[in-house]
Amino acid sequence: EFSEISLKDIDQLASSSFPLCMRHLFDKLRENHHLKHGGRMQLGLFLKAVGLKLEDALAFWKSEFSQKVGAERFDKEYSYSIRHNYGKEGKRTDYTPYACHKIISSTPSVGDHHGCPYRHFRLVDLFNQKSDVLYFLVFIYYNSAMHTIHCESIRAAQKSIVHMLQIFCFSIIVVCNCHSLFNSEENLRAALGKMGVGGRSLDDILDKVRSRHYQVACTLTFEAVHAASCDSGINHPNQYFEASQKTLQ
Ligand code: SF4
Repeated sequence: EFSEISLKDIDQLASSSFPLCMRHLFDKLRENHHLKHGGRMQLGLFLKAVGLKLEDALAFWKSEFSQKVGAERFDKEYSYSIRHNYGKEGKRTDYTPYACHKIISSTPSVGDHHGCPYRHFRLVDLFNQKSDVLYFLVFIYYNSAMHTIHCESIRAAQKSIVHMLQIFCFSIIVVCNCHSLFNSEENLRAALGKMGVGGRSLDDILDKVRSRHYQVACTLTFEAVHAASCDSGINHPNQYFEASQKTLQ
């Protein structure tokens, strides 16, 4: 544990010293006033280790969740798990925050915001949504091709070919319009841009992401944001936070 942090400083700390995974969760919580279980665990345990006391944690989560589900439902459904994380309920285990390897190997699904953005901004987009559309297009092409082959008259075949051309144009429009949605590298670029990372550093980070060296990418982000070296490399979000606070002191 680093030291105690005060609730009023939390926004400023999030923008100065949270690693991208926690910043993303924090921003999504502020934006949607809600996080799913995986996100609540990942961010909640991180905040605990950063030094957010239980009373402040309850106030923090309540201030967001009550905007979405109401204060009463928050007290009934969500406050228990926060106290649980602090070892005040159930088996009274004092849970430890997740390390990078655990976060990187997690498997967030659509609508989840936990995980490591260096890995999951790519995975979710590239392997879920894009493949769905590709399957759909292959299915349409296959059916049209079969239809053309089995046409009995030339006229029917001509009609079928025109039909295929129409579908081809339609697919180009779909692919072009969905490009920004699928191009997860753009999401990562934008997120890093918000942290003030650009130019050569940004290219180096994206290179590391492409070669799947996510923690190295995170280390390079730390170095770019703080203009300081991080020789040990990043292996824990709380280590990122502590190193950041030391550099800023
Ligand atoms: Fe978070 Fe670790 Fe990923 Fe950095 S490498 S964003 S600290 S999980």
